[in-house]
Amino acid sequence: MIQTVGTGKLVVITGPSGVGKGTLVRSLLERHPDIYLSVSMTTRSPRPGEVNGKDYFFVTPEQFQDLIAAEQLLEWAQFAGNYYGTPRQQVEEKIKQGILVLLEIELEGARQIRASFPQALRLFILPPSMSELERRLRDRQSESPEAITRRLNRAIIEIAAADEFDVQIVNDDFDRALAEVELVLFPDLPELSLQS
Ligand code: 5GP
Repeated sequence: MIQTVGTGKLVVITGPSGVGKGTLVRSLLERHPDIYLSVSMTTRSPRPGEVNGKDYFFVTPEQFQDLIAAEQLLEWAQFAGNYYGTPRQQVEEKIKQGILVLLEIELEGARQIRASFPQALRLFILPPSMSELERRLRDRQSESPEAITRRLNRAIIEIAAADEFDVQIVNDDFDRALAEVELVLFPDLPELSLQS
């Protein structure tokens, strides 16, 4: 049962880079359009196809520092050489409106959310193995070899913290992982049908 935060609900999804969180979250949103996915701020460069304001708000390091100084971020962290943060205002507004808000963020941010919103439900997505995670990161060809190494090193630290989360889900079979996430978020849903 997801506990309420104010009047809405807050769910955090964390897991190492390349584990497939993004794809899981996209499928979840297609099936549950009422969920609000927070769009983060980042200083990293857009990947091909990424849209400013949809995938991320792409900002300069100076703009990011200003957001921190103005306390406009609910949480923020440095990850693999870039800064990432959750805009405070949008998330607080949606929660007040009673909407289920989803944050897809890394470990440090998830820890900050646990401190500020202890009622938030926190899910950790695990890869079937480190070698499979490495294969997925290399296959998507979105990062340089150095960036992949940074992400894999970070993955070891993040996976070691999986027990801090309320729920751990292994993303070996995508449909099964999606069904598990859905079951955790919506335990009252009848029979899950994943054919699309
Ligand atoms: P990517 O560069 O692959 O899009 O994201 C790198 C990592 O940053 C991922 O683990 C992603 O979940 C995390 N991330 C994305 N947005 C935020 C955010 O607003 N705050 C924090 N703490 N992490 C984020």
